[in-house]
Order: sequence, then structure tokens, then C-alpha cells
Amino acid sequence: MPATKMKTVRHSEQSLRTALISKNPALVSQYEKLDAAERRLMNEAFRPASDLFGPIVLHSQSDWIASHPEPPQGFEEFFSDPSRKTPSREKHSIYIQCIGSLGNTRIISEEYVKWLKGYCEAFFYGLTVKLLEPVPVSATQCAFRVNENTKNLQIHAGHILHFLKKKKPEDAFCIVGVTMIDLYPRDSWNFVFGQASLTDGVGIFSFARYGGDFYSSSYEGKVKAPQRPSSRDYSAFDSYYTPDVTSVLLLRSCKTLTHEIGHIFGLRHCQWLACLMQGSNHLEEADRRPLDLCPICLRKLQCAVGFNIVERYKALVRWIDDDSADTPRGTPKHGPDGNVNLPKPVEAFEEWREWIMKCLAVVQK
Ligand SMILES: [Zn+2]
Ligand SMILES: [Zn+2]
Repeated sequence: MPATKMKTVRHSEQSLRTALISKNPALVSQYEKLDAAERRLMNEAFRPASDLFGPIVLHSQSDWIASHPEPPQGFEEFFSDPSRKTPSREKHSIYIQCIGSLGNTRIISEEYVKWLKGYCEAFFYGLTVKLLEPVPVSATQCAFRVNENTKNLQIHAGHILHFLKKKKPEDAFCIVGVTMIDLYPRDSWNFVFGQASLTDGVGIFSFARYGGDFYSSSYEGKVKAPQRPSSRDYSAFDSYYTPDVTSVLLLRSCKTLTHEIGHIFGLRHCQWLACLMQGSNHLEEADRRPLDLCPICLRKLQCAVGFNIVERYKALVRWIDDDSADTPRGTPKHGPDGNVNLPKPVEAFEEWREWIMKCLAVVQK
């Protein structure tokens, strides 16, 4: 995309300040009661020379904001949204349900979902994240099809939501399904990255299109014989293709999962600053989106979850550092019990680690 077509969405210092702090006296005083160091970080939102938080840059007309006009949500609109759900002492856990294999082997699938769990625990710091036993696609009894254009297997997102809703444990704030099988919302649609019901606190997200090869002509997930599978025969899923779990795939799935769970907390698409909660229309735009929240969305999430910002940033850094220090990356190491421990592929998180360290420096000054 030529640079001349790029457009910067720039808000005035005043409107960013209002989006963050609001003009409602009760919310202003709530803001003033926050820790001074936390406010110093959040105030970076409207400091024009901030190198931590910058404006949203649109690259084309197909970018989200250009094609989906939505009312902007400042902290006040978030706070006073009557349909917003907040975790409580009784409903305080995020459940992750794996559907079908995430990786080529059982071990890769298990490790991958544990990495996602650990990441969510750091991101939604203070909440409990629990893994449910993985289930095969057949357990959900969902409809499925072969996509006529891309020839890959797809499962019906609404049926999966129905399955998850029935499985939602008592103490769940939300339950989210993750899968490497592509999704479709209804027959007339080509595909969907994910779908959620905020009122039910359920969501399903697919990482199928986040592999390095989905859009290549040699994509191995194409179903060779164009047979019409029987609606009760799920055997096509048994050894179905999954992409390699690379660092980029892990980064993309962590971003998707936290963005989507963010919606379940009532955070709407961010139009203020470059932010994880920006909407995205396509993979390239999703990749441009930062890994973490702008101060306005951070205040919303903090209000819902109640974490200490320093503790949360430290937990994110710990997650990136954990297990990547002593093993040569990409080389499985064998534990004493013969199990293979896969090193977490975190190369793609390095630039974000630097960024979090800068945020920490501001908040710990
Ligand atoms: Zn979204
Ligand atoms: Zn934001």
C-alpha cells in the first residue's frame, strides 16, 4: 500500500483525556484515587510526544474503522454500559476448551493450549484460567462442510457456541473454545475468524487462517476428494491437517484470544490509539495491531478485573521469559520421564517485551 494512502486517526489531547478520565465527577474522582504511578502511565495516552502509545494508522479503505463506523467507547461509556458483565467472586474463571487437535501431535496440542492459558492468566491478571479436557469435533455434534472456494473443512460456529454454553461451569465468567478448524457462521458465508455471545459469556475462535500457509496454493488442509461428507461421520477430522505452531502463530492466537475475551468484558473496538482492541478486517490489519491495550482500554480492563498494572506487566514479561532462556529454540528437550518439553516459541514477542519494559519503567519511576 503506498504511503500516500495511509491515514492517521488523530484525536486532540482533550478528547483523549476525556475518553480516559471522563467528565463525570464520580469517574474523575475514581481516576484520581488510582495509584499515582498508574496514572502517570495512563496519562501517556494524551501526551503528544509519547513513544508508548501512538495514533491508529489506517492503511487502506478496507481497514476496520473505514468500513465499520461504530460509536466510540470512552471509559465512561464502558463504565455505564448496562449490559456489561463483570467477573464476581462466584464467577471468576475463564475456561478454555480445545476442540480438535491444535498441533500435529498430542504433545504439541497440549503445550500450545498451556501457553495460551498462561498468556491469558498474565493478560487478565488476577483471574483464574482453567483448561477443560480437549474434545474431538464429533463431541460437539456440530454441522460441518468443505468450503467450496478454499476446499478446507469448516465447522458451524453457532453449533459450537451452543455446545460450549451447555458445558459452561458454575464458576465460569466465560468459556471460550479454540480450534484449528476453520469456522463458518451460516451457509451463505465464506468463513468467520470467531463468534461470541456476550450475554452468554461464550466464544469460539479459530486459528486455522493464522498458519503461515493457509492462503498459499500448497495449503495441505485442502480436502482432496470433493466428496460430500455425511453429517454424522466426523472421521475427516481425525487426522486433519494443522499448521506448525510457530512463534508467529502463537503471537496471533494470543492476540485473538485476548482481543475476543476483551469483548466479553464489554470492551468495544478501540478508536482512540493503536491498541489490541482495534477492530480488524483482515489478517494484515490484525498483524499490525499491538499486542497490548492503550491506556483507555487498560483502565476499562483494570476496572473490570481489578489488577495492579505493575503486577500485570511483570506477569506478561515472565510469560515471555519463562522457558525460553536456557534451551536452544526449536529443539525439543527430553525430560527425565521421557516426555518431550517443547520450548515456547516467543521470538515474535521480543519487540513487545521491550515495549512492556518501557511501560514498566514509566510506572515504576
Ligand atoms: Zn473485535
Ligand atoms: Zn484501546
